[in-house]
Amino acid sequence: MLKDNIFQKIIDKQIPAKIAYEDEWCVAFHDINAQAPVHVLIVPRKAIATHADLTDVDRDLVGHMHLIAVKLAKDLHLDDGYRVVVNCLDRGGQTVPHLHMHLLGGRDFHWPPG
Ligand code: AMP
Repeated sequence: MLKDNIFQKIIDKQIPAKIAYEDEWCVAFHDINAQAPVHVLIVPRKAIATHADLTDVDRDLVGHMHLIAVKLAKDLHLDDGYRVVVNCLDRGGQTVPHLHMHLLGGRDFHWPPG
């Protein structure tokens, strides 16, 4: 079921998370298994399973998520740069079936990614 995932439970405040930011569109919280000194997940309240499910109606939401990433990067002092990642489905490495954006910072990142 689309809403039966851990991020939906965090959005619904059924399980705790270290919330970094929230508004009517999205909730951002610190990743439980951080891959960098700063690792925040920006999660829409709307139940969208994955990036490939986005449609035209989500245009404002996607823009908003990016602007929240910019705001958090400023708030968390990622002045030298950061990385924004969205993993999509199995081959993209997605493990939680609710759309989310990773904001990673506080160390150097390399290319290509693994
Ligand atoms: P992805 O692999 O792109 O689906 O990312 C899922 C992310 O969610 C991983 O980085 C996990 O460490 C993170 N995660 C899983 N459960 C929790 C949780 N309860 N609180 C915070 N982050 C979580």
